[in-house]
Amino acid sequence: MPIGRIEVYTVELPYMQPFTISLGTSTRSVDVVVKMIDDESRVGWGEASPAKRIIGESEETIVAAMHTLAPTIIGEDPINIERIEEKMDRAILGNTSAKLCLEIAALDLKGKILGVRMRDLLGGYRDKVETDFTIGIKSPEDMAKEALSIVERGFKIIKLKVGTNVEEDIARVKAVRDAVGKDIRLRIDANQGWTVKQAIKALIEMDRYDLELAEQPVKWNDLDGMAVLTSTSPIPIMADETVHTPEDALRVVEIGAADYINIKLTKAGGLFKARRIAAISETAGIPNMIGCMMEGGVSITTAVHFAAATRNVVTTDLDSDLSLKEDFVEGGSGCSNGYRTLPEGSGLGNLKIKEEKLRSRAVFEEGGTSQTF
Ligand code: MG
Repeated sequence: MPIGRIEVYTVELPYMQPFTISLGTSTRSVDVVVKMIDDESRVGWGEASPAKRIIGESEETIVAAMHTLAPTIIGEDPINIERIEEKMDRAILGNTSAKLCLEIAALDLKGKILGVRMRDLLGGYRDKVETDFTIGIKSPEDMAKEALSIVERGFKIIKLKVGTNVEEDIARVKAVRDAVGKDIRLRIDANQGWTVKQAIKALIEMDRYDLELAEQPVKWNDLDGMAVLTSTSPIPIMADETVHTPEDALRVVEIGAADYINIKLTKAGGLFKARRIAAISETAGIPNMIGCMMEGGVSITTAVHFAAATRNVVTTDLDSDLSLKEDFVEGGSGCSNGYRTLPEGSGLGNLKIKEEKLRSRAVFEEGGTSQTF
């Protein structure tokens, strides 16, 4: 039962098309994947999706952190997730993606040992969750065209990336609303792209296009600005980059700096820290969304388990794996008419990991394709 071995790989995940947000454009992710094996050869999988501009971690820093974290938890019983979390937190500060990656693998292993789905280990509330589909920043015409194709695929909620220039952003929202009609739910995400004054102007103008929420209009560390917008905007405000940890959530609640909080497991540094954010939010009467970075199938399936387990998660933004040209996972969370479902089986479920893909990419200075602890 104790964790006996941890193998660390990296995998390149190219996107179907370049993805632009106000912080920049990306064409691919490089994720770190761990295979955790117990002394009876049972396997748990984990994934870390570094988002340099938001979390400050990269493929290189995650692999480096694994040199500290993995030896710390080898020999631990994967049943004791909180103990594993405590050991990792004592070993190294921050490095939330790396810690999450190992916690997912441990929880997958725990589920397999107990014969219980991850959703049920985390609480258990619903069987499927509705997701939006996100459109990156483009011309208003191109965003409207893409919105129509998303509606044709059965999605009822669309998230629009904005945050470049207020007039252009308003044109983007107008073009999409005109194209999709009034029955599709629209939300926006400015990824910190506006000043408070720009945000006030944009949100008042955009209110006529019936937006259900506006994510992170201003800088992540401008809590006063977030509080001003929360009290004045006609459109509800969601904190994303402002809230990484439970401590951040507490501060946002204390000063009234959001109407919604977007939980991302990667930012939180683990499923149990994410649960603490949900608990703080729920106690304060603030609903949660669960969102993602540009993640592959292990991370997304984990996030769907979390969303399905957590009552205070009222909506999700779990679409990144649908925009990958090629994933390293088969049979993870499905998506049908905008609803994400869970695979059968214990732990994460019966996923198929393309291990040959993990073994095809050399990343380490030593020249190998994996690091074993
Ligand atoms: Mg966001």
